[in-house]
Amino acid sequence: PPPPPLFFFMQTPAYEIPLRLVGSEMCIRDRFINDSFNDYAKIRNFPNTKGTSRLSPHLRFGEISPRQIKHSLEQSGHAHWKESHYLSEIGWREFGYHLLYHFPHTVREPLRPQFNRFPWKENSPQLRSWQKGQTGYPLVDAGMRELWATGWMHNRVRMVVASFLVKHLLIHWRHGADWFWDTLVDADLASNTQGWQWTAGSGADAAPYFRIFNPTTQAIKFDPEGDYIRKWVPELRHMSAPDIFEPSKVDRGQNYPNPIVDHSDARDRALKAYEKTKA
Ligand code: FAD
Repeated sequence: PPPPPLFFFMQTPAYEIPLRLVGSEMCIRDRFINDSFNDYAKIRNFPNTKGTSRLSPHLRFGEISPRQIKHSLEQSGHAHWKESHYLSEIGWREFGYHLLYHFPHTVREPLRPQFNRFPWKENSPQLRSWQKGQTGYPLVDAGMRELWATGWMHNRVRMVVASFLVKHLLIHWRHGADWFWDTLVDADLASNTQGWQWTAGSGADAAPYFRIFNPTTQAIKFDPEGDYIRKWVPELRHMSAPDIFEPSKVDRGQNYPNPIVDHSDARDRALKAYEKTKA
Protein backbone atom coordinates (compact mmCIF):
# COMPACT_ATOMS: atom_id res chain seq x y z
CA PRO A 1 0.00 0.00 0.00
CA PRO A 2 1.15 3.60 -0.51
CA PRO A 3 2.72 5.18 2.60
CA PRO A 4 0.35 7.22 4.75
CA PRO A 5 0.61 11.00 4.39
CA LEU A 6 3.24 12.74 6.47
CA PHE A 7 0.67 14.38 8.80
CA PHE A 8 -0.29 10.87 9.97
CA PHE A 9 3.19 10.47 11.41
CA MET A 10 3.24 13.99 12.79
CA GLN A 11 -0.07 13.59 14.64
CA THR A 12 0.40 10.03 15.86
CA PRO A 13 2.60 9.30 18.86
CA ALA A 14 5.44 7.02 17.81
CA TYR A 15 4.27 4.12 19.95
CA GLU A 16 0.95 4.00 18.11
CA ILE A 17 2.42 3.65 14.64
CA PRO A 18 2.25 0.01 13.62
CA LEU A 19 5.72 -1.24 12.77
CA ARG A 20 4.83 -2.08 9.20
CA LEU A 21 3.92 1.54 8.48
CA VAL A 22 7.32 2.79 9.51
CA GLY A 23 8.74 1.00 6.54
CA SER A 24 11.99 -0.21 8.01
CA GLU A 25 10.87 -3.80 8.37
CA MET A 26 9.45 -3.80 4.87
CA CYS A 27 12.71 -2.35 3.75
CA ILE A 28 14.84 -5.14 5.23
CA ARG A 29 12.47 -7.80 3.93
CA ASP A 30 12.28 -6.44 0.42
CA ARG A 31 15.84 -5.35 0.10
CA PHE A 32 17.67 -8.14 1.79
CA ILE A 33 15.84 -11.10 3.37
CA ASN A 34 14.02 -12.05 0.17
CA ASP A 35 16.99 -11.55 -2.14
CA SER A 36 20.35 -12.08 -0.46
CA PHE A 37 19.85 -13.57 3.01
CA ASN A 38 20.35 -17.18 1.90
CA ASP A 39 23.65 -16.39 0.22
CA TYR A 40 24.89 -13.94 2.85
CA ALA A 41 27.59 -16.18 4.33
CA LYS A 42 28.88 -17.01 0.84
CA ILE A 43 28.95 -13.58 -0.75
CA ARG A 44 29.21 -11.10 2.12
CA ASN A 45 32.95 -10.67 1.54
CA PHE A 46 32.78 -9.66 -2.11
CA PRO A 47 32.61 -5.88 -2.40
CA ASN A 48 31.30 -5.87 -5.95
CA THR A 49 28.13 -7.81 -5.08
CA LYS A 50 24.99 -6.69 -3.27
CA GLY A 51 25.68 -9.41 -0.73
CA THR A 52 25.11 -7.42 2.47
CA SER A 53 22.05 -5.60 3.78
CA ARG A 54 23.49 -2.05 3.81
CA LEU A 55 21.38 -1.35 6.86
CA SER A 56 24.20 0.18 8.89
CA PRO A 57 23.20 3.86 8.39
CA HIS A 58 19.60 2.98 9.32
CA LEU A 59 20.73 1.16 12.46
CA ARG A 60 23.05 4.03 13.28
CA PHE A 61 20.27 6.60 13.17
CA GLY A 62 17.69 4.42 14.88
CA GLU A 63 15.47 4.04 11.82
CA ILE A 64 15.52 0.32 12.46
CA SER A 65 16.49 -1.54 15.62
CA PRO A 66 18.32 -4.85 16.09
CA ARG A 67 15.10 -6.23 17.61
CA GLN A 68 13.11 -5.35 14.49
CA ILE A 69 15.71 -7.13 12.40
CA LYS A 70 15.47 -10.20 14.59
CA HIS A 71 11.67 -10.01 14.35
CA SER A 72 11.82 -9.80 10.54
CA LEU A 73 14.11 -12.81 10.40
CA GLU A 74 11.80 -14.73 12.71
CA GLN A 75 8.82 -13.94 10.47
CA SER A 76 10.69 -14.71 7.27
CA GLY A 77 10.20 -18.46 7.34
CA HIS A 78 13.90 -19.11 6.83
CA ALA A 79 14.66 -22.36 8.64
CA HIS A 80 18.07 -21.43 10.07
CA TRP A 81 17.64 -17.74 10.83
CA LYS A 82 18.67 -18.22 14.47
CA GLU A 83 22.06 -19.70 13.60
CA SER A 84 22.55 -17.43 10.60
CA HIS A 85 25.77 -15.57 10.03
CA TYR A 86 23.68 -12.46 9.50
CA LEU A 87 22.21 -12.53 13.00
CA SER A 88 25.68 -13.08 14.42
CA GLU A 89 26.81 -9.82 12.81
CA ILE A 90 23.93 -8.03 14.50
CA GLY A 91 25.17 -9.64 17.73
CA TRP A 92 28.70 -8.42 16.99
CA ARG A 93 27.33 -4.88 16.81
CA GLU A 94 25.66 -5.37 20.20
CA PHE A 95 28.98 -6.57 21.60
CA GLY A 96 30.54 -3.30 20.40
CA TYR A 97 27.96 -1.39 22.45
CA HIS A 98 28.70 -3.54 25.47
CA LEU A 99 32.41 -2.73 25.14
CA LEU A 100 31.80 0.97 24.70
CA TYR A 101 29.57 1.07 27.77
CA HIS A 102 31.98 -0.80 30.03
CA PHE A 103 35.25 0.53 28.58
CA PRO A 104 34.48 4.07 27.35
CA HIS A 105 38.20 4.99 27.31
CA THR A 106 38.68 2.64 24.33
CA VAL A 107 37.41 5.37 22.00
CA ARG A 108 40.93 6.84 22.24
CA GLU A 109 43.02 4.26 24.15
CA PRO A 110 43.78 0.58 23.50
CA LEU A 111 41.75 -1.96 25.45
CA ARG A 112 44.89 -4.06 25.85
CA PRO A 113 47.28 -1.71 27.70
CA GLN A 114 50.47 -3.25 26.26
CA PHE A 115 49.59 -1.49 23.01
CA ASN A 116 50.40 1.82 24.71
CA ARG A 117 54.02 0.84 24.01
CA PHE A 118 53.46 0.49 20.28
CA PRO A 119 55.84 2.77 18.31
CA TRP A 120 53.32 4.63 16.13
CA LYS A 121 54.66 6.98 13.47
CA GLU A 122 53.40 10.45 12.63
CA ASN A 123 53.44 10.75 8.85
CA SER A 124 51.04 13.36 7.50
CA PRO A 125 51.89 12.90 3.78
CA GLN A 126 51.23 9.15 3.99
CA LEU A 127 48.05 9.70 6.01
CA ARG A 128 46.90 12.12 3.31
CA SER A 129 47.69 9.57 0.55
CA TRP A 130 45.61 6.99 2.41
CA GLN A 131 42.70 9.37 2.91
CA LYS A 132 42.70 10.35 -0.76
CA GLY A 133 43.06 6.82 -2.13
CA GLN A 134 46.53 7.47 -3.53
CA THR A 135 48.57 4.68 -1.91
CA GLY A 136 49.40 2.84 -5.14
CA TYR A 137 47.63 -0.29 -3.82
CA PRO A 138 44.55 -0.69 -6.05
CA LEU A 139 42.17 -2.31 -3.53
CA VAL A 140 43.06 0.17 -0.79
CA ASP A 141 42.61 3.10 -3.17
CA ALA A 142 39.30 1.76 -4.50
CA GLY A 143 37.93 1.51 -0.95
CA MET A 144 39.09 4.95 0.14
CA ARG A 145 37.65 6.51 -2.99
CA GLU A 146 34.35 4.68 -2.58
CA LEU A 147 34.22 6.07 0.97
CA TRP A 148 34.90 9.61 -0.21
CA ALA A 149 32.39 9.42 -3.07
CA THR A 150 29.52 7.68 -1.26
CA GLY A 151 30.12 7.77 2.52
CA TRP A 152 30.03 3.98 2.67
CA MET A 153 32.56 1.17 2.28
CA HIS A 154 32.18 -2.58 2.21
CA ASN A 155 33.24 -4.38 5.42
CA ARG A 156 35.94 -6.50 3.75
CA VAL A 157 37.48 -3.38 2.27
CA ARG A 158 37.20 -1.51 5.60
CA MET A 159 39.32 -4.27 7.13
CA VAL A 160 41.91 -4.07 4.34
CA VAL A 161 42.26 -0.26 4.34
CA ALA A 162 42.33 -0.12 8.14
CA SER A 163 45.01 -2.79 8.31
CA PHE A 164 47.03 -0.94 5.68
CA LEU A 165 47.01 2.28 7.72
CA VAL A 166 47.89 0.59 11.00
CA LYS A 167 50.31 -2.13 9.86
CA HIS A 168 51.81 -0.99 6.55
CA LEU A 169 52.09 2.67 7.53
CA LEU A 170 52.28 2.30 11.34
CA ILE A 171 49.95 5.28 11.65
CA HIS A 172 47.87 5.31 14.83
CA TRP A 173 44.40 3.80 14.43
CA ARG A 174 42.96 6.95 16.03
CA HIS A 175 43.72 8.85 12.80
CA GLY A 176 41.85 6.21 10.83
CA ALA A 177 38.93 6.20 13.24
CA ASP A 178 38.75 10.00 13.01
CA TRP A 179 38.69 9.87 9.20
CA PHE A 180 35.97 7.22 9.20
CA TRP A 181 34.06 9.28 11.75
CA ASP A 182 34.13 12.30 9.43
CA THR A 183 33.28 10.44 6.23
CA LEU A 184 31.09 7.37 6.92
CA VAL A 185 27.32 7.75 6.68
CA ASP A 186 27.06 4.97 9.27
CA ALA A 187 29.77 6.44 11.56
CA ASP A 188 28.96 4.88 14.90
CA LEU A 189 31.08 5.28 18.01
CA ALA A 190 30.69 1.69 19.19
CA SER A 191 31.18 -0.08 15.83
CA ASN A 192 33.92 2.25 14.65
CA THR A 193 35.89 1.90 17.87
CA GLN A 194 35.44 -1.86 17.83
CA GLY A 195 36.47 -2.08 14.14
CA TRP A 196 39.67 -0.10 14.64
CA GLN A 197 40.68 -1.77 17.89
CA TRP A 198 40.08 -5.15 16.24
CA THR A 199 42.27 -4.17 13.29
CA ALA A 200 45.04 -2.83 15.48
CA GLY A 201 45.09 -6.02 17.54
CA SER A 202 44.47 -4.03 20.71
CA GLY A 203 40.77 -4.78 21.26
CA ALA A 204 38.64 -7.60 22.65
CA ASP A 205 38.69 -10.66 20.43
CA ALA A 206 41.01 -8.74 18.11
CA ALA A 207 42.78 -9.92 14.97
CA PRO A 208 46.27 -10.92 16.11
CA TYR A 209 48.66 -8.12 15.22
CA PHE A 210 51.05 -10.48 13.42
CA ARG A 211 48.33 -11.46 10.92
CA ILE A 212 48.93 -8.78 8.31
CA PHE A 213 46.55 -8.46 5.37
CA ASN A 214 48.27 -8.48 2.01
CA PRO A 215 46.23 -5.97 -0.04
CA THR A 216 47.17 -7.71 -3.29
CA THR A 217 46.07 -11.20 -2.30
CA GLN A 218 42.95 -9.78 -0.65
CA ALA A 219 42.05 -8.22 -4.01
CA ILE A 220 42.69 -11.48 -5.88
CA LYS A 221 40.49 -13.34 -3.44
CA PHE A 222 37.59 -10.94 -3.01
CA ASP A 223 37.52 -8.95 -6.26
CA PRO A 224 38.62 -11.77 -8.58
CA GLU A 225 37.70 -10.02 -11.85
CA GLY A 226 38.90 -6.60 -10.69
CA ASP A 227 35.44 -5.06 -11.22
CA TYR A 228 35.39 -3.23 -7.89
CA ILE A 229 38.81 -1.73 -8.53
CA ARG A 230 37.89 -0.65 -12.06
CA LYS A 231 34.75 1.02 -10.74
CA TRP A 232 36.55 3.24 -8.22
CA VAL A 233 39.99 3.70 -9.74
CA PRO A 234 39.34 5.06 -13.22
CA GLU A 235 43.07 5.26 -14.04
CA LEU A 236 43.05 1.44 -14.06
CA ARG A 237 39.84 0.94 -16.02
CA HIS A 238 41.68 -0.36 -19.06
CA MET A 239 43.46 -3.08 -17.03
CA SER A 240 42.29 -6.62 -16.43
CA ALA A 241 42.94 -9.30 -13.82
CA PRO A 242 45.45 -10.38 -12.62
CA ASP A 243 47.76 -7.43 -13.42
CA ILE A 244 45.26 -4.91 -12.01
CA PHE A 245 45.86 -6.29 -8.49
CA GLU A 246 49.61 -6.08 -8.40
CA PRO A 247 51.12 -2.68 -7.47
CA SER A 248 54.35 -3.52 -9.34
CA LYS A 249 52.46 -4.38 -12.55
CA VAL A 250 49.77 -1.71 -12.83
CA ASP A 251 50.10 0.77 -15.65
CA ARG A 252 51.08 4.18 -14.28
CA GLY A 253 50.54 5.93 -17.59
CA GLN A 254 47.29 7.48 -16.33
CA ASN A 255 48.99 9.12 -13.33
CA TYR A 256 48.30 6.25 -10.97
CA PRO A 257 50.75 6.66 -8.02
CA ASN A 258 53.69 4.42 -7.15
CA PRO A 259 53.17 2.29 -4.02
CA ILE A 260 53.92 4.48 -1.00
CA VAL A 261 55.48 1.48 0.79
CA ASP A 262 56.81 -1.90 -0.30
CA HIS A 263 54.62 -4.71 1.06
CA SER A 264 57.39 -7.02 2.31
CA ASP A 265 59.40 -4.19 3.90
CA ALA A 266 56.26 -2.84 5.54
CA ARG A 267 55.36 -6.29 6.84
CA ASP A 268 58.81 -6.81 8.41
CA ARG A 269 58.71 -3.33 9.95
CA ALA A 270 55.25 -3.97 11.43
CA LEU A 271 56.34 -7.26 12.98
CA LYS A 272 59.37 -5.57 14.57
CA ALA A 273 57.19 -2.78 15.91
CA TYR A 274 54.85 -5.38 17.41
CA GLU A 275 57.75 -6.80 19.46
CA LYS A 276 57.71 -3.55 21.49
CA THR A 277 54.29 -4.41 22.88
CA LYS A 278 55.74 -7.58 24.37
CA ALA A 279 58.63 -5.92 26.23
P1 FAD B 1 25.77 -6.40 6.96
O1 FAD B 1 26.84 -7.35 6.58
O2 FAD B 1 24.50 -6.47 6.21
O3 FAD B 1 25.52 -6.61 8.52
C1 FAD B 1 24.30 -6.22 9.15
C2 FAD B 1 24.59 -5.30 10.31
O4 FAD B 1 25.40 -5.98 11.27
C3 FAD B 1 25.36 -4.05 9.91
O5 FAD B 1 24.52 -3.04 9.40
C4 FAD B 1 26.03 -3.69 11.23
O6 FAD B 1 25.14 -2.98 12.07
C5 FAD B 1 26.30 -5.05 11.85
N1 FAD B 1 27.67 -5.44 11.51
C6 FAD B 1 28.10 -6.14 10.42
N2 FAD B 1 29.45 -6.31 10.47
C7 FAD B 1 29.86 -5.70 11.61
C8 FAD B 1 31.12 -5.53 12.23
N3 FAD B 1 32.25 -6.05 11.71
N4 FAD B 1 31.19 -4.82 13.39
C9 FAD B 1 30.07 -4.31 13.97
N5 FAD B 1 28.83 -4.45 13.43
C10 FAD B 1 28.74 -5.14 12.27
N6 FAD B 1 29.94 -0.24 11.21
C11 FAD B 1 29.12 0.79 11.49
O7 FAD B 1 27.90 0.64 11.50
N7 FAD B 1 29.66 2.03 11.77
C12 FAD B 1 31.00 2.29 11.78
O8 FAD B 1 31.43 3.41 12.05
C13 FAD B 1 31.86 1.19 11.45
N8 FAD B 1 33.21 1.38 11.41
C14 FAD B 1 34.02 0.31 11.11
C15 FAD B 1 35.41 0.50 11.10
C16 FAD B 1 36.26 -0.54 10.77
C17 FAD B 1 37.76 -0.32 10.75
C18 FAD B 1 35.72 -1.81 10.46
C19 FAD B 1 36.64 -2.95 10.09
C20 FAD B 1 34.36 -2.02 10.48
C21 FAD B 1 33.48 -0.98 10.82
N9 FAD B 1 32.09 -1.15 10.87
C22 FAD B 1 31.27 -0.09 11.17
C23 FAD B 1 31.49 -2.50 10.74
C24 FAD B 1 31.04 -2.94 9.34
O9 FAD B 1 32.00 -2.66 8.38
C25 FAD B 1 29.72 -2.28 8.91
O10 FAD B 1 28.77 -2.39 9.93
C26 FAD B 1 29.16 -2.97 7.66
O11 FAD B 1 30.08 -2.90 6.61
C27 FAD B 1 27.86 -2.28 7.27
O12 FAD B 1 27.36 -2.82 6.08
P2 FAD B 1 26.01 -3.64 6.05
O13 FAD B 1 24.93 -2.90 6.78
O14 FAD B 1 25.76 -4.00 4.62
O15 FAD B 1 26.41 -4.92 6.88
